[in-house]
Amino acid sequence: MAINRVISSQVLNEQEESFNLSLRPKRLDECIGQDRLRQKLSIAIAAAKQRGEPLEHILFYGPPGLGKTTLANVVANEMGVAIRCSSGPALVKAGDIMGLLTNLNYGDILFIDEIHRLSTPVEEFIYPAMEDFKVDFTVDSGLHAKTINFPLKRFTLIGATTRAGLLSAPLRSRFGMLYHVDFYTVEELTRILIRSAGLLGLSHEPGALERIAARSRGTPRIANRLLKRVRDYAQVKGSGVLSIEIVDKALAMEQIDHLGLDELDRAFLRALANVYNGGPAGIEALAATLGEERDTLEDVVEPYLLQIGFVRRTKRGREITAQACSHLGIELRPKARQPIEQGLFDPEEI
Ligand code: ADP
Repeated sequence: MAINRVISSQVLNEQEESFNLSLRPKRLDECIGQDRLRQKLSIAIAAAKQRGEPLEHILFYGPPGLGKTTLANVVANEMGVAIRCSSGPALVKAGDIMGLLTNLNYGDILFIDEIHRLSTPVEEFIYPAMEDFKVDFTVDSGLHAKTINFPLKRFTLIGATTRAGLLSAPLRSRFGMLYHVDFYTVEELTRILIRSAGLLGLSHEPGALERIAARSRGTPRIANRLLKRVRDYAQVKGSGVLSIEIVDKALAMEQIDHLGLDELDRAFLRALANVYNGGPAGIEALAATLGEERDTLEDVVEPYLLQIGFVRRTKRGREITAQACSHLGIELRPKARQPIEQGLFDPEEI
């Protein structure tokens, strides 16, 4: 029973993707927030342009919906080069990436989303491409197998991942620049929404966009998605103008609370509280209880709950915090005394 969520930070469908594309900033100065990251990027871009050289390989990592793909496109625009996009799961064999690499011109960008999901053969195939701009391609097999050494034009690989920790050390070390993309503040999300509302030609009353921003879990993709839902609601139930009242009603209908938590977040917290008495509980066990993919919980649900201090990650699993319990109005059963307190054994040794 997977819960369909309006505040998932993953792209939901193609229609939404084109909606996002139209709202996607094209230049660095159109991007809002991520000030330190933008500053470092703009220096690297200016320096590379002055030298007339391509940029070093870049890795963007952070939760989904925060702007990694957007930044890759912005870098291409700022450098004035072409960008080709693919993703880890789409590249299974060396041949899948060979065509992409050989079609790149000097300075072009190859963007690989979900780079932590590259297959091992492809990952090993791109090491010499990243380092020496050449690939060794094997044609035929068995007795007739031949390895052809193929030179490539100097290019920039931009990788994006929600899990930097899953990247192998040799791959990670081949990136010259590694940037963490952070959650946005409510003020930054409000500015993003003002820009989006302007692009979509929406009228809004004071405070309405702040209200949406506060419920967007620090994520621009969610902010834009909620804006769309509120726009629809305003059009059908109101005069089309976004007011605080319309925002509240539209988001209540989507079951999003004042912190931006939706049903899946609450189900996650409730499972932790009710089934595991607050935890610790392993992620696999929680995924099984909720009937959700482990990846969805780790990529989409947990990062924000950790960020707002509703969940703690310990060596033994996830634990709910007192703050989350009071938000949900849950009281945990008194915990049984831990064996360590009785001096029986040390949990570190288990
Ligand atoms: P990711 O690749 O990290 O999953 P995206 O780059 O697809 O995220 O961003 C999702 C959407 O959020 C974009 O389509 C864009 O509309 C919006 N967005 C992202 N970053 C910014 C930003 N800095 N300023 C304004 N809008 C942004």
